[in-house]
Amino acid sequence: MKMSKSFKMLSVLMIAAMLVIAGCGNNNAKNNAGGNDAAAGAATDSEAIAKIKERGKLLVGVKYDTRLFGLKDPASGNVEGFDIDVSKAIAKKILGDENAIELKEVTSKTRIPMLNNGEIDMVVATMTITEERKKEVDFSDVYFQAGQSLLVKKGSPITGLDDVTKDTKILGSKGATSIKNIKEKVPGVTVLEFDNYQDAFSALKAGQGDALTTDDAILYGMASQDPGYEVVGEPFTDEPYGIAVQKGNTDVVKAVNDTLAELKTNGEYDAIYTKWIGKAPAK
Ligand code: GLU
Repeated sequence: MKMSKSFKMLSVLMIAAMLVIAGCGNNNAKNNAGGNDAAAGAATDSEAIAKIKERGKLLVGVKYDTRLFGLKDPASGNVEGFDIDVSKAIAKKILGDENAIELKEVTSKTRIPMLNNGEIDMVVATMTITEERKKEVDFSDVYFQAGQSLLVKKGSPITGLDDVTKDTKILGSKGATSIKNIKEKVPGVTVLEFDNYQDAFSALKAGQGDALTTDDAILYGMASQDPGYEVVGEPFTDEPYGIAVQKGNTDVVKAVNDTLAELKTNGEYDAIYTKWIGKAPAK
């Protein structure tokens, strides 16, 4: 009688142990599958954070040719700017070390494909939050407010959007909201699209177009590089920047939003903003 009772208990314990082992097996299988996200599609949220922690570094897509936001210094090889400082704060939040980060170059055109094929964990690259992009990626809260504007050679007859006509030759970067916006504002306008902003600015300097259009903050960075060029007119769109992650990575979005909120309350956001933009953000 006594024997059979403890036998029963032993059986229960053994079954429980087997269930635990089986459960672990499932988890392992799930984690391994998580390693193939590029092929399998978006990782689920906690897997995405776990993967970053396991790797020990955050892979961030940033611009390499955009002064003030993400610019690679050819001499030192360092990439610097507003977006880089924000990225470092996110690395510190997720991994406890702002240098646990690997920056990869993206352009306006390559950033969503690179994110969605798993080459990078997030895009921090002057990227406007739009309804169309929300179909492909998830965004953090807004971390910078820009607006589209025009850059021209000093003395140009173009002094603002009103001077842009069908006959104006506009230069821009492929994949940017600016291209679509200017075509909507001035139907029939000629737009020459370049692979990146460096090429578009070189084309403006070479006289291949009348004005370069993108966000004012980016254009001010270009104008600061060459006193022969100026930003004209008032911004004519709203370009709220967000940090993009693969769809469904809600834990990553939360980590990013928590970082942004902390930066705002501890004053670091204002410090980063002032460092790059030259003035405090509007409240
Ligand atoms: N913010 C705009 C966009 O996301 C223009 C800047 C850019 O091309 O990155 O398209």
